[in-house]
Amino acid sequence: MFLSIGLFFVFVSGLKAQDFKSLHLVARFDTIDEKVLGTVYHQVAVGEDVDQLVLNAIRMEIKSLQLDGEDWDFEQNDTALFIPIKEAERGELQLRIEYEAKPNKGIYFIGWQDETRRARRQIWTQGQGIDHRHWIPHHDDQTDKILFSAEWIFNSDYQIMSNGQLDSMVTKEGESHWYYSMDKPMSSYLIAMALGNYVASAQMIKGTPHILYHYPDRIADSAWYYYRHQHIASFLEGEINYEYPWRNYKQAPVMDFRHGAMENTCATIFGDFFLVDSIAFNDRNYTYVDAHEFAHQWFGNLVTAAGSEHHWLHEGFATYYQWLSEEELYGSNHYDWELFKARELIEGAAARDSLPLAHPKAGVERFYQKGGWLLHMLRNYVGDSVYRVVIDDYLHRYTHQVVHNEDLIALFEKHSDKDIRAFFDLWLYGKKEPSLRIRHSPIKEALVTDLSEAMPQELEFAFLVNGKWRFQKHQIPKGRSMVLIPDSCTAYYLAKVDDLLLTLDDESMTSEYYRIAFEANDDLAARCRYMREWPQWEEDLDFIKSVAENKQNFHWLRAEAIRAFVRISKDRNQEKALVESLLRSTKDVQLQKAIMTVVLKEKMDIDAQILADLRQYGGSYELRSSALQASIDPDNLANMKWLNDAHWAEQPGIVGHDLYLQTLFYRFAFFRDQEALAKMLDFAGPSFDFNTRMNALSFLSYLPIDADLYWQRLFEAFQNKNWKLSKMGREKLLDLQSKEAAQFKKAYRKARRDWDDFQKQKAERTFEKE
Ligand SMILES: [Zn+2]
Repeated sequence: MFLSIGLFFVFVSGLKAQDFKSLHLVARFDTIDEKVLGTVYHQVAVGEDVDQLVLNAIRMEIKSLQLDGEDWDFEQNDTALFIPIKEAERGELQLRIEYEAKPNKGIYFIGWQDETRRARRQIWTQGQGIDHRHWIPHHDDQTDKILFSAEWIFNSDYQIMSNGQLDSMVTKEGESHWYYSMDKPMSSYLIAMALGNYVASAQMIKGTPHILYHYPDRIADSAWYYYRHQHIASFLEGEINYEYPWRNYKQAPVMDFRHGAMENTCATIFGDFFLVDSIAFNDRNYTYVDAHEFAHQWFGNLVTAAGSEHHWLHEGFATYYQWLSEEELYGSNHYDWELFKARELIEGAAARDSLPLAHPKAGVERFYQKGGWLLHMLRNYVGDSVYRVVIDDYLHRYTHQVVHNEDLIALFEKHSDKDIRAFFDLWLYGKKEPSLRIRHSPIKEALVTDLSEAMPQELEFAFLVNGKWRFQKHQIPKGRSMVLIPDSCTAYYLAKVDDLLLTLDDESMTSEYYRIAFEANDDLAARCRYMREWPQWEEDLDFIKSVAENKQNFHWLRAEAIRAFVRISKDRNQEKALVESLLRSTKDVQLQKAIMTVVLKEKMDIDAQILADLRQYGGSYELRSSALQASIDPDNLANMKWLNDAHWAEQPGIVGHDLYLQTLFYRFAFFRDQEALAKMLDFAGPSFDFNTRMNALSFLSYLPIDADLYWQRLFEAFQNKNWKLSKMGREKLLDLQSKEAAQFKKAYRKARRDWDDFQKQKAERTFEKE
């Protein structure tokens, strides 16, 4: 090694003197040793002051390297290649590298080790942030955009999806060559490939071919997992108002994906846990992810952030456009609900630390949810037309380029006369979301406000004067201030306050105001908030019940009303009657799910026939699961024969497996059913997806079992490259290592026999440290 790691990073990110122009990759795969056999061709422009090229390449075996057609000397360490060049070779150079990699990241071999051949056999990639350097020697820097093309070579029984256009596919001697090419540059973290057993369907949307990949055995449910894709895509393209920037768009599901989905340029890859049927659709659906990744094709792929402190320019925008698409599909109530759920996540982040959104470590909840919220507030602040003008300017000005936060801010300053600097100082660079406290002045008829941070947006007060609502806007300063209450005012509320990311502590809302404000304010989030904060007034119970029963109300509000009812009522029979009548009468699955959460939390003993119906026919698997939980009665095992019903084994997909696992768990826990145990151990093994394996391991860990196969399953999980599954295996094994040291030792020695060096080292670092 001749450069320290620290110096190396400074060099690569600081100097633009090596500018990679294109990357052509030829790759074959060895599925037994999980290796990539590749040849990569780089075209690179080299500046005057450069005397070596530096490429990121983690532990790669270089077979040969040529510069402009000549064999070339190079240096290498565990993370990089260094290629010396002389003055004579500057300008535009061609670099060819033939190599072999056995990567632990960036590309994943799934299911090839499953001897039962029940697992799907796939190879897929995930580059973001800097993982492609594990399998392609290249300049792995998102600020250096390249023209990408590839020739993928594999067994003709499989299909391959990749970035760009499939120019041709040639089959020779049982092997196919897929030639894909891009005609516009992109950052290398967006390089993608998904290989598996797929069928594809194509449709034209606004002049662009959209190619959707399916598992042949799940194609019957495609209307549910690609629910209204055409509608989402054409809506977004219209909303963003900039023509879709790539030649086509593709999406493919993969097994054991580590995130939800990844917006690789025109080749989105997503976790197959989104392959829902009509029932699981009500628990988890792909529509919001579909919209999110599609929005990234502009925000992130076309215009790319320069670094982590600007990361919300990808995720905030994608989240915001995802919400707008959900509003388009499901209505404005749904949009408000999403905003509210996002607010809760942001509050969670604020309880953890106080980093600004423009911080490299701001965290997922800020990059995504707070970024989305920022855009929601910004559009309200500057107005719809200014917002659209800025977005148009932003996308055109920075097409295929790299941007910083200040680039976007400058455009808002250019097109808007509002105090843009103050807005971004608070919401982007500020460490905390503001909080507002309001009290009644004891001296005069006024509201005393106490605002923690200066906020450029005004607050709108609604005052009820002589039977009419009067609206007043006020710019509330930081610290304490006063808002005068008009003469003869009998009630008031804060209008549109739920459109601000603000913590509100309103002590001035006296009890009788709640009902008045609830009826006057038609903002859904505000009405839900009133329900949550409703004082303990039993006189209001009939009114709250009417809100819960009103079919016109959105399920979120009805659920809040049910919770308020249960909180205020002191009569369990009354609560049970409301819950049972709603469960019987409503067809709203989200409402039923919310009600069952209350039933479980309050340990309500509800009608057995309702539970039996929901267990078997409930419109969501979560709902069936809640009904199952509520039906468990350890004191009356004879009443639990339904655990053996055949239909549990027939629930498809990952959510269905989870429900089946619950019944297996109780069958073993209560009846020591050995067949159930064997099935659980099978679900915990490599034939199944990581979610099912984790659920199975989680259930197994509560049971008194000492099977060799259980230990084997834990070590398999620990060694899996899916970090969630691996983390679970690690935690459970560390726990067992301290509690059952002798058995652990024996199982560890046995498992070790099958491991390669990397796996042995991983285990030593975890279990053999002092
Ligand atoms: Zn995203």
